[in-house]
Amino acid sequence: MSDLEDLYQEMILDHGRRPRNSGAMPDATCQAEGFNPLCGDRITVYAKVSGDQINALSFEGSGCAISQASASLMTEALKQTNTNTATELFEKFQNLVTGKEELIDIEAPPSLGKLEVLRGVQRFPTRVKCATLAWHTLMAAIRGNADTVTTE
Ligand code: ZN
Repeated sequence: MSDLEDLYQEMILDHGRRPRNSGAMPDATCQAEGFNPLCGDRITVYAKVSGDQINALSFEGSGCAISQASASLMTEALKQTNTNTATELFEKFQNLVTGKEELIDIEAPPSLGKLEVLRGVQRFPTRVKCATLAWHTLMAAIRGNADTVTTE
């Protein structure tokens, strides 16, 4: 394992153990619940959205380290952005974790930034749903879809 992979591993464990932006948001303007039956990961994503501006993001959940770390990294990457950036970043992130990196235009913003630490997920196809659960759930929240999102 390379030093870079060690560092990525360390960051995932850190975010898994001490998730950022974790907790309910009583004054959220939208929220959604997500469930990944394959692994048992559950998450609720809360957002304060005004127009297309994302002003705050948080999540509550339980599940594996990948699902928790991914949710934590997502809230960090997307707070103070807008819904277009969220959609574009989700597309890039999905291509990253499913191993379709050739589809990612690295020149074009938004940059994946710290989300790159989840690159290793591409070697474990069954964990892709753990990594994308928070994102699917956020998209449902933004679109006002109140049904529980499941990855199946
Ligand atoms: Zn999981």
